[in-house]
Order: sequence, then structure tokens, then C-alpha cells
Amino acid sequence: MRVEFLGGARTVTGSATLLEKGSLKWLVDCGMFQGGKELEGRNRSVQHYYPEDLSFILLTHAHIDHSGLIPKLVKEGFHGKVICTKATLELCEVMLQDSAHIQEMETEWQNRKGKRAGGEGKTPLYTVKDAERSLQYFQAIGYNEVLQIADGVRVRFQDAGHILGSAMIEIWVEEEGEEKKIVFSGDLGNFDQPIVRDPSLVEEGDVLWLESTYGNRLHKSREETVQELLKIIQEALRDQAKVIIPAFAVERTQDIIFTVGQLIRKGRIPSIPVYIDSPLAISATEIFKRNPDCFDEETNALLMGGENPLELPEIIYTRTTEASKAINEDSRPGMIISASGMCDAGRIQHHLKHHLWRETSHVVMIGYQAEGTVGRRIVDGAKTVRLFGEEIAVKAHIHTLGGFSAHADQKGLLEWLSHFKNPRLEVFVNHGEEKISMGLGQLIREQFHFRTTVPQWKEKRFLFGPEKEVMPEMATIEKFVPEERIEEVSAPGETLSGLFRDLDRNYKRLRRKLKRERLKGKEFPDSRWLKQLEEINEKLEKLESEL
Ligand SMILES: [Zn+2]
Ligand SMILES: [Zn+2]
Repeated sequence: MRVEFLGGARTVTGSATLLEKGSLKWLVDCGMFQGGKELEGRNRSVQHYYPEDLSFILLTHAHIDHSGLIPKLVKEGFHGKVICTKATLELCEVMLQDSAHIQEMETEWQNRKGKRAGGEGKTPLYTVKDAERSLQYFQAIGYNEVLQIADGVRVRFQDAGHILGSAMIEIWVEEEGEEKKIVFSGDLGNFDQPIVRDPSLVEEGDVLWLESTYGNRLHKSREETVQELLKIIQEALRDQAKVIIPAFAVERTQDIIFTVGQLIRKGRIPSIPVYIDSPLAISATEIFKRNPDCFDEETNALLMGGENPLELPEIIYTRTTEASKAINEDSRPGMIISASGMCDAGRIQHHLKHHLWRETSHVVMIGYQAEGTVGRRIVDGAKTVRLFGEEIAVKAHIHTLGGFSAHADQKGLLEWLSHFKNPRLEVFVNHGEEKISMGLGQLIREQFHFRTTVPQWKEKRFLFGPEKEVMPEMATIEKFVPEERIEEVSAPGETLSGLFRDLDRNYKRLRRKLKRERLKGKEFPDSRWLKQLEEINEKLEKLESEL
């Protein structure tokens, strides 16, 4: 088996892994890269995902950093199945179209700017139409159901407790009569997170992909976090001020509705107006209400008791831009929950522009703020931030409440990992910033003695080769070895067949490219090319005659 780390490698976004078994190719997740030009540039060219040749995509959950490139792959020729849970499918219906809408808007804005500077127009990464078209390939799978998706490949989705519909994925692969098990943790949730169930525990596995978003951090307890939020709301009430919460539309928004609802139900605060200013969050909340089978016991108990945990006495949903603008005319103390969660786009930017400079306003960060985003700059203590071409002073109270995170912290990750019984488990730490993943990898080596690496972007590996028999000491590396120096060890047979696969593939791609160029009416691009091809040909002939 061959794998390639296409995303979420030493970064939190762009999650994607290519798996190959013989001629069968598939992906686990197909996320969009976010956070700066370099990373986002990676979204543009996806040929190394082999969109035309993929049989299926297994999708852990609906977040864009896991699903956001699916419409792009469909646009480039993917026509296999996207397998995910029912709630993920429903969330993707709204989230991919929302993502496409953002792509279209941003391109339009850039083009307007570009044209003024005399540049050429760009096309969006994908359009709303592309996103709609991609939905026809989605197919739902139930939690805990074992599905044979190809000859010698079975999969099972189990609850990851991260967001509605989120899953960890187990894959059983049969190779040469032996069965091996690969596990993807997906994004792992917390054990006391409201609404969704706790993460499932896995005991068996040969290879594991483990997320590490908060691999270096310990969250405060849920109760402490709720107390902090309570204090913030009380201060805002006293000062007749607003609490602004940039939130991911899915899960964080519903979590806050649930928590504020509990504070009101228990009489800790009076009813306050809570604006949900994000069409996506509104749609997501509706999807939550349609999927009570994904709820945990606490939420179900409230529902049974006639309470709606996703309702508030004064909840105001603002779908239109006009309604959104009207929020600023409401002078009552209250709360505004808006997207995007990392303040990089969307209506939250308008609210920040309106409130960041006010000393009495509160901005509460509850989600992960990736490097390079506006949210990260605010959290890191920037004195001003640039919004809509204007420098805005940061004078509001800035709070970070880690306890609302939908990701397990270091303790949670290690605790979940401790249930694995196989001492020869191989762990790939991914979905984290480089230093954080490396640090967690080191901890795992020390505590569990698992062979642990932090793969690099586009790194390729062979799994289950006989190399483990040849080098048993690899299983017990205890000292810190920089990842760069752990070389890929493959059996000679595997290397050869891998090489041939690469050769075949490169040759076919070259032919396809040439064909396209010819169709455009171009002549053979360059005499230099011709010469290089001749050289390659000569080398191949020479090699063959030597054998
Ligand atoms: Zn996620
Ligand atoms: Zn993620």
C-alpha cells in the first residue's frame, strides 16, 4: 500500500491523504487550504490528487478544511463516490455552496481591483454550480456500519464527537491474504462537549492518523469556561455593551446557543437578544434540529422534557444583508454570533469594524485561530487590524475561551490514543501546526513507544512492507529523531513497482498535456523539450538492453 500526505501535513488546513492499493486509489478527506497566499495557492492545482482516477473519497466531516476541495476535484474530472455520514452530507449541501459563493465573491472583488491595475481576470476556484454538481456523488453511510467499498477494502465510520456527523474512519485492507487496519482519527472532539456524543474509542489498528490541533494545550474545564462566559455577559449587561463571537457556523454556534440557553434556563442571566448573523449558521442550526439521532443523552433529555436546547427566548436570525446591518441600530446589550470563525471573511468583519475600537465591547474567541488570519492577529495582541482597507484600533476586551473548542486538547488526544493495544502501532501525527505536531509526536514516542512521525506535505510512504521485520528497532525509537532524518525504508520489490507506477503516470500525464496543447493549436512547445524526451528515451533503451 502506498500513501501520500496531500494536506493537513504540518498545518491545520487542507486535510487530505491519498491511499493506493494496486490500481485502486482513494482519498481520506479533501480539504481546502486556508491561511495565507502560499497555502491557498495549493488549492489551485490538484492534478496530484488524480481526480479522474480516484474511486472514492472518504469524508470524516463537513468542515471546509476537510471537504472544501471536493467541488474542485469534480471540476477536474472526479466521478467516484464521496462517502460520509448523513449529517455530514446535509451539512456539505449548505457548506460547499457557501464556500463556492465566497470563492466567487472574492474573485470578483480581486478582478475588479486587478482590472483597475490593468491585469487579467481570474476564475474562481469553483462556482456555486460546481458545488451543486459535486453533491450528486455523495452517498451516506450509517455510524458503525461496515461497508465493503472495493475488493479487499472495508470501512466503518464511528462518532468522533467533533461536530454533528463527524466521524473517525477505520479501514481494513487485505493484501496478499493478510488483513491490516488503518485508522483516521478525523478531528477529535471533547468528552464533555454538549449536543454531540463523546468520541468513540478504538482499540485495534496497525496505522493511525492522529490530529494534533491542540496537541500542545490543555483546555480549561467546561464548567470554568461557562463561568468565564457568564462573567463576560454580566459585564456587558452592566456596561450596556455587546459581546461579539466569531464562530464557525457548525457546532460552535449551536454550542453557544445551548450554553446561553442553559444560563437563561437556570436563571443565571436574564434573557438577552442573541443575533445569529450568518445564513450558514442558520441553515446549520436547522440541520442540527433535523438530526436528533446524533445528539448525546443530555441534549436528548432536554428535548424529552419539552425544552428546545437550540432555541432562545430572544434569538434573532438575520439572513439578509439589510437585517444584518440593522443589528447596529439595536443599542441593547446582547450577543452577536457571526462567521467566519477566524475573522477572515464574512459578516463578522463588519461587526469587528463596529466594535473592536469600543472599550466596552467584548470579543470572545472560541475556535482555533490559524496562523496568518485576522483572528490570530487579534488574539496575538495586535494594536490595530486592517478591515475593509481601514486600520481599526483594538480596544475592546479580547477573550479566548478554549473550553468551547470542538477539538480535544493534549490530554484528550493522549487519553484517546491510550486505548490502542497494538504495541507496533505506527502513528502519523497530522492536522496541526508544525511545532505542535512535532511536540505531540515526541510525547507519543516517550509515553507509548509507538513508531511516530510527522509527515511532510507531499511525502510518500509505503505501508505494511516487510521493512518492519527487517528493522524491528524502528518500533521503539525513544530518542527524538528529527522527522527529516527518518528515511523511507521500502522493500526492493515495492520500490520497483512504485517507480513503475510513477513512470507510467508521468508518461500519461505528459501525453495528456501535449494533447491539450495541440488542441489549443499550439505547436510542440520547445525544442529543448524534444531533446529531453529523446534523452529519456535513449536512457530507457539502454536500461532495457542492460537487463
Ligand atoms: Zn473540523
Ligand atoms: Zn479540521
